[in-house]
Amino acid sequence: MSTDRRSFIKHGLAAPFGAALLGKTAAAAAQQRPSAAPASTAQDRPRAPAKVPYKRIATEEAWASREIFEEYRKLLASGPVDPGFEAQWGSLRGGIEGSRIAGKLIELGEPRIADMDAAGIDMQILSLTAPGVQVFDPQTATRLAALSNDQLVEAIRKYPTRYAGLAAVAPQDPSGAAKEIERAMTRLGLKGVIINSHTQGEYLDDQKFWELFEAAEAFNAPIYLHPQTPGPGMLQPYLSRGFERAILGFAHEVAFHTLAIIEAGVFDRFPRLRLVIGHGGEGLPYMLYRIDYMHRRGPRTRPQFAKRLPSEYMRENIYITTSGLAWAPAITMAQSVLGVDRVLYAMDYPYQYDIEEVTLTDEFPISLEDKTKLFQTNAEQVFALKS
Ligand code: CA
Repeated sequence: MSTDRRSFIKHGLAAPFGAALLGKTAAAAAQQRPSAAPASTAQDRPRAPAKVPYKRIATEEAWASREIFEEYRKLLASGPVDPGFEAQWGSLRGGIEGSRIAGKLIELGEPRIADMDAAGIDMQILSLTAPGVQVFDPQTATRLAALSNDQLVEAIRKYPTRYAGLAAVAPQDPSGAAKEIERAMTRLGLKGVIINSHTQGEYLDDQKFWELFEAAEAFNAPIYLHPQTPGPGMLQPYLSRGFERAILGFAHEVAFHTLAIIEAGVFDRFPRLRLVIGHGGEGLPYMLYRIDYMHRRGPRTRPQFAKRLPSEYMRENIYITTSGLAWAPAITMAQSVLGVDRVLYAMDYPYQYDIEEVTLTDEFPISLEDKTKLFQTNAEQVFALKS
């Protein structure tokens, strides 16, 4: 990585400007950079992560089963599919073996552990990759969610110190999803729930899904709300510009979904419910002032509105992770508005497997105490992991 890229990632557009924004700590941290660290090599090799006094627990790490990919292939062969799904997994028409990323996703054995070792990752919290089972009919989705959870538990039993996992559920069948949350939390030892945003264009602010929230709250299961392509009603302008995935569409999709859940009053009804969102909070921490401001003006067309300010739920019910955003200005900003206890480390393996980003995150201009929270203890607390 070039010195320019490293400086941009650590401080922002221009190092002095970024350092000024972050205050003295950033400038001091910049000066403390180990002078022996190579700026780049001929091969532009990533620096191996240093030994650190905290565990690195990565909290948004993807996997998939061969069975799910086979069902995706059947779906693709069955006729026209949602163009968002086509954009994400149309490549599977060429077979699972033809997709490098699909190969990485179904690998839960030694090759994945070796990637973790090379990146200095002690533990991955695994979740079924987007869109999970949410594209199927309710029966298929419920069956595949349970099968995936059983397979995930097998992998965790093989590597109990390296993996933990979140349960897949089928929101298409809210009662079935609630039962699966109970099974996952009481019998399987999973640590929460993964939901890959909309389910065939439907969002969880619709009360028909709230049985699922009730179960998550009752069994103390944090729900990781992970992106997928925007719902069918919003997709076209993104698709025509190539923005439907991680460059922008994913963040808009989850920011929209999260605010919809907040404003529907989900946290008023389920005050102990916890949501986790990735990618630095998908832009929401940065926008909170304006979101609160407009919330205070009240609903224009909606029949109801959350009782409190959106920022209050963000600070009490929602956690964010750093997945795909190894960028000090964004993450320290989120820590400053949400609190250091609410921001967790994630890599976004295998989609953004970038070893250098681990080092960049190690070098964030924050105290060792806050770094330990970021990488280790916040995840242990949110997902009830043994330290
Ligand atoms: Ca991800």
